[in-house]
Amino acid sequence: MFSRIEHIGIAVKDLEVSTELFTHLLGQAPYKTETVEAEGVKTVFFQVGETKIELLGSIREDSVIAKFIAKKGEGIHHIAFATDNIVSELQRLKEHSFQLLHEQPKEGADNKAIAFLHPKSTNSVLIELCMDKTM
Ligand code: ZN
Repeated sequence: MFSRIEHIGIAVKDLEVSTELFTHLLGQAPYKTETVEAEGVKTVFFQVGETKIELLGSIREDSVIAKFIAKKGEGIHHIAFATDNIVSELQRLKEHSFQLLHEQPKEGADNKAIAFLHPKSTNSVLIELCMDKTM
């Protein structure tokens, strides 16, 4: 079962410009910036109640975010749901014929174990499962 929306990922062209924009929009500064070298992505996190906004900027031309923006432009990239058992949730979703992009959870930003579902099986919405590793 998913417990809540953990974060919404938004792909942006210029992370600095968008960080300022979202700081004004949300009325608060981000609490964290993190680079995920393996993905070629830099992330900026804002806390909004129990949900986060994750701005995703590209640090390489061949990153998934650069490709996403080239194809679809800036905007919502994925919705991440929190779960406290990512392995059993992946199994449950697989049994319901959802297409998994990751059979096994992998290391994500913000000290999380994460996995994605293929948007082909979820009405074109990229879905992330997200488990706090400190739990
Ligand atoms: Zn995410």
